[in-house]
Amino acid sequence: VRVRGEQLQRELAERIRLQDVDQARALAEVTSRTKSEFLSQASHELRTPLNAVLGFSQLLASDPKRPLDELQQMRVQHIDDAARHLLVLIEDMMLLSRVESNTLTVQSLPVQAGPLLRRCVELAQPAAEAAGVALRIGMTPDEGRTLPQVQADPIRLEQVLHNLISNAIKYNRRGGWVTVRAEAAPRGFLIEVADNGLGMTVDQRSQLFQPFNRLGRVDQPGTGIGLVICKQLVERMGGRILVDSESGQGSRFTLELPAAG
Ligand code: ADP
Repeated sequence: VRVRGEQLQRELAERIRLQDVDQARALAEVTSRTKSEFLSQASHELRTPLNAVLGFSQLLASDPKRPLDELQQMRVQHIDDAARHLLVLIEDMMLLSRVESNTLTVQSLPVQAGPLLRRCVELAQPAAEAAGVALRIGMTPDEGRTLPQVQADPIRLEQVLHNLISNAIKYNRRGGWVTVRAEAAPRGFLIEVADNGLGMTVDQRSQLFQPFNRLGRVDQPGTGIGLVICKQLVERMGGRILVDSESGQGSRFTLELPAAG
């Protein structure tokens, strides 16, 4: 009787433990979904007045009947910059919350990397020219004609590449370069965004994927969330991001993704 009693006690304890785990999991899911819904609602509520701020600041800056003096122009420009920054921040926070709460669908499709990379580079060309940075593309072998397809979500992959390329341009110097390369690798597919810009110290490198951490580079516009989102998106696509960087010498971000099929 004693042995049977102990056995029942153990079984009961195990059942309670499992119930607790299930309940904790369900609670975490609800909390995460609630957080995501709250952020979605809040971002919607914030966007409306922000668009009014942007609209009126543009109206002030471009009203030919009431031209602004230099100081006023500068102040209106500050309002415009701050409102734009907030809009980007809201979008990024929304996206991060959706990725973290698993409410963002990430597709898994065979994608031709060549055209996608060329489009990303073309889109970033004006920013590169404005920053005085040479932006090049390279695909091995034979300019990417025989590259295998990559298994990814094309829209999210384009978003990740856009972020990496614009960072490589932003955290660079006039006369610097950025190279985007793709190649087939034994374990999948590699896409590399390399630059000879500011680079990072070992300490900065260790903080790279912390949300809102700008590594002290506040002279450039940004929110410090882009790379956190990139990492999550790439991992959701079954890949990973590797970073190699040296302070003052430049950085290399490598995406390792599965090849299609
Ligand atoms: P943001 O660019 O909006 O600040 P990110 O998450 O994309 O946010 O990047 C975080 C920080 O990492 C940047 O603020 C910058 O200091 C650093 N960083 C990112 N990419 C590079 C790069 N290619 N070279 C040097 N520093 C970089």
